[in-house]
Amino acid sequence: MLPAAPREVPRVLGRSADRPRRLRSLASLRELVAESAVRRSQLVAPLFVADDPDRPGAATLRPLRRRTVDATAREAARLRRSGVRAVLLFGIPERKDAQGSSAWDPHGPVPRAIRALKETDPALTVIADVCLCEYTDHGHCGVLRGARIDNDRTLPLLGRTARAYADAGADLVAPSAMMDHQVATIRESLDGSGHEDVAILAYAAKFASSFYGPFRDAAGSAPSFGDRRSYQLDPRNRREALRELALDAAEGADILMVKPALPYLDVIAAARERFDLPIAAYQVSGEYAMIKAAAARGWLDETAAARETLGAIQRAGASLIVSYFAGELAAERQDRP
Ligand SMILES: [Zn+2]
Repeated sequence: MLPAAPREVPRVLGRSADRPRRLRSLASLRELVAESAVRRSQLVAPLFVADDPDRPGAATLRPLRRRTVDATAREAARLRRSGVRAVLLFGIPERKDAQGSSAWDPHGPVPRAIRALKETDPALTVIADVCLCEYTDHGHCGVLRGARIDNDRTLPLLGRTARAYADAGADLVAPSAMMDHQVATIRESLDGSGHEDVAILAYAAKFASSFYGPFRDAAGSAPSFGDRRSYQLDPRNRREALRELALDAAEGADILMVKPALPYLDVIAAARERFDLPIAAYQVSGEYAMIKAAAARGWLDETAAARETLGAIQRAGASLIVSYFAGELAAERQDRP
């Protein structure tokens, strides 16, 4: 038989020799050239601790369920076994008042949960959210003067709350009230009480977003009048978000957070470019609920969609991601995030 005629090589005139598909042919090859992967150890799971977890309003989405202190400790242990080693705590107190005084009660749900978690697992990173909205009877993040939120009268209360959580053993406190100068006030309060080593994860760019719905039910923190647009960022403003981030960095924040995540990838990317501090992002309850709801109707593959969004948030520049998917994804497969 005659040897086969040499295959005709197509002329590459006007066409590059690049064929990106060459590196996509095998799963193992795709793994070799993968540019990023979300690690389970960079996820933070939010947990809701309640004095009375059965109070009406409790959310039905599993990761947004209210738990007792004991149940919170069990859940943290389950998370840690599956590779998630950090939690962010929110408290739902029995008693609310105009000042939100249950926030700094050393016997409140959050300080009790911090002590329980640290006792059972000192290696777990425990972050405590610092805000007043779960604790005030009006549901706003600060104290009122008439119908206005009084920034400067709120500051010492946030400082006091952060100190109570540090006293209980929190590794980080996470101020989320969006009051001006809250980071500086909290840093001062921590340093003044011997907690120089407790870090501040600042919700620096927190937008007045429409994606917080399920959280407000879980935390029972919907404002009884008005909205939060007088203190949270206008979703239209990227430059103003960068200014907020810069102010929190200057006030002593150790980590800067952008919230929500997916609708603000541009802000995460800009923050990554501009600051040398670690950048965090909060994939909020509405982002979680959208994927859940679509998957429940068979419109999306839940796990694939969840991974894709977390990957996007990481590619944008977040090294820490707070997500309600943390527990589910970690439990699902040991060799993947
Ligand atoms: Zn708040």
